[in-house]
Amino acid sequence: MEISVDQLYEFKACPLRYHFIEQGLPIKKTENDGLREAVKSTINYFYFMLHQGKLIGMEEMKQKFTSIWYDQNDIYDIKFDSKASKRKKELLAFEMLTLFHRQQKYNPDKTVAVNVEFRIPIAQDFYIRGHIPVIRETMRGLEIVNFKTSHTKQDEFWNRTDMALTLQAIGFHSIFKKEVDSICLQYLRTGTMIYTNRKTKDYQRLYKSLKMMKKTLDEGWYYPRESYHCDTCPAKQSCMEWR
Ligand code: SF4
Repeated sequence: MEISVDQLYEFKACPLRYHFIEQGLPIKKTENDGLREAVKSTINYFYFMLHQGKLIGMEEMKQKFTSIWYDQNDIYDIKFDSKASKRKKELLAFEMLTLFHRQQKYNPDKTVAVNVEFRIPIAQDFYIRGHIPVIRETMRGLEIVNFKTSHTKQDEFWNRTDMALTLQAIGFHSIFKKEVDSICLQYLRTGTMIYTNRKTKDYQRLYKSLKMMKKTLDEGWYYPRESYHCDTCPAKQSCMEWR
């Protein structure tokens, strides 16, 4: 079995919803999820070009974002509430990208690698795949960077235990044959950076919980996990019929 980091989060949020999606339930992204993906894609393009030796300008970043946001084929399959809210989110994206670009303009990152894919064996026949957005060289050493479009900062406990960061650290370790020196969470709305790290001892917690998740998947225990996620869940009707 191979599963992506996004699928893991889906499963963690609600196993029943994960199951419906795996069964082919059509699901559109919310505006906020779409905004996050489109902004991250634009930043990924910025770093891809930077890694090739070209610092792109703000206009080019805006064009990149707009090409995603108004894509005729709707590549991210986003459910917009209205034209006005689509435009409002676009302006919010421009604000975040402008702030990001200002930070990079005169002192661009020294990229080591961009969009690094990894595939980690967790147990026999069980692999997790994911990617590291950016690895850069800093005064703190080699650093993994993740970009956040949310208002609120993750709390310290979540920073210490977020499985995506731990998986990225393991992926980094397998490629560079050493622990990552630093992990940065860069908040695009404010330009704030939060730093954390992962040591080999942190990997154990994740391996243990992933093996338990695998057991749940193997047994087919797709139970409903009611939470605030239910507000926007496209599987509400099917969920009501679950007995
Ligand atoms: S409505 Fe809530 S509990 Fe039911 S599948 Fe969706 S997220 Fe899970």
